[in-house]
Amino acid sequence: MPDQERPRPASLKDLAEHLLSLDDLLVSCMRCGLCQAVCPVYGSTYLEADVTRGKIALLENLAHETIKDAKSVNQRLNRCLLCGSCQTNCPSGVKIMEIFIKARSFVAGYLGLGPIKRLIFRQILPRPRLFNLIIRLSGFGQKFFIKRVNQTVNAFKAPILNPFIGDRRFPSLPDQSFSARHGLIDSEVGSSNLKVALFLGCAPDKLFSGLSEATLKILRYHKVGVFASPDLVCCGLPVLASGDSQGFLRLTAHNLKELAKSSFDYLVTPCATCAANIKENWPRFMDRYLEEEKKAVAALSVKTLDVTEFLVSVLKVEFPPTTPAPKAKIVTYHDSCHLKKSLGVADQPRAIIRSLSDYMLVEMPEADRCCGHGGSFSLFHYDLSKDIGQRKRDNIVSVNPDLVVTGCPACLLQLMDTLSRNNDQIAVKHVVELYADSLPISR
Ligand code: SF4
Ligand code: SF4
Repeated sequence: MPDQERPRPASLKDLAEHLLSLDDLLVSCMRCGLCQAVCPVYGSTYLEADVTRGKIALLENLAHETIKDAKSVNQRLNRCLLCGSCQTNCPSGVKIMEIFIKARSFVAGYLGLGPIKRLIFRQILPRPRLFNLIIRLSGFGQKFFIKRVNQTVNAFKAPILNPFIGDRRFPSLPDQSFSARHGLIDSEVGSSNLKVALFLGCAPDKLFSGLSEATLKILRYHKVGVFASPDLVCCGLPVLASGDSQGFLRLTAHNLKELAKSSFDYLVTPCATCAANIKENWPRFMDRYLEEEKKAVAALSVKTLDVTEFLVSVLKVEFPPTTPAPKAKIVTYHDSCHLKKSLGVADQPRAIIRSLSDYMLVEMPEADRCCGHGGSFSLFHYDLSKDIGQRKRDNIVSVNPDLVVTGCPACLLQLMDTLSRNNDQIAVKHVVELYADSLPISR
């Protein structure tokens, strides 16, 4: 059934029926409570309703109509980073991410979308040229209201924005997005005999355009053909996390159409969140795609890779460990949840860092504990997000590094905020930027 025709739950009874479709997944929870120990939100609040077991109990009660307050359940469901820590540690193998993603979609479908989310998800994200124009105008106008607050972190603040984004520190916008600067890239297969679709997603394209340039430089250096379309749009995770499955499916359909304009061996991205979403969440909605979309989604789920995994596992680039130079900078590595827990990528970024003699890798405690960003979670639960981020910050500072490196733009944002808030003089980089800096300009 085409998505537009799919009815959303119109009454509590409808909602209960939708949730009952998750009953087989819900009953697999044995209530052991082992998810408590790893949940960053529970680690901050110590509230049972914030941990997976509590959320599952609420959903079961809503499904069986023993509670009727869908709004409260929605609020509890949204107090979750979708970090996957609970799923990774669940001894019963409960498909927690599938439950949370689908339940959010049912409950938000029943409650409806707010006007701001509707505007962003349905009008701005699907229109890449409009989105680029907004970024360009904001990039021009930002000099009138942002102020640099930490030189090393390169973070800014803007009190005028506090009512919308809290007292947050953030990177400045580039003059223009990567996609606006480059337009269509469609280069021939080089001596690697491989061609990739470069999927940048919103943050690397529009906010961290230097990261996108670094990724392109690496692919060109290794003679990989690249297809990058300026008409690709958001991967859809922020939309899906807000429960707007219809908006998510529109973005996915748009991206599938764009990606069909070229043939490629792999889809590669420097954004762990995009990679995890394309591999795991796009296929979760198979029953809502058209036939040709189903095939494309299944194929992409297999051939989507984080760029470090592509370099190590597919291109077989060797990254032999080197002895750090006498003045090597101390770097510590933060495992993004989407990179490690969703994609299983943890050794590859570390191998790259260890191969660079300008850096000495020192592991921080709890390197794979969530940083607390969680996309829109940090926007709607900023105090909680800051609290979770503080533990990450303390772990980083404990090894006294010159810089902290990670593999996901969302973590970059959180690390920049939490370090500059504490006035720490620690730079924040993506691992791809370190590797690109070590390469000659062209070969
Ligand atoms: S660890 Fe798994 S089985 Fe145990 S309470 Fe949490 S979700 Fe349920
Ligand atoms: S996904 Fe993360 S934040 Fe959400 S319940 Fe599981 S461990 Fe907690």
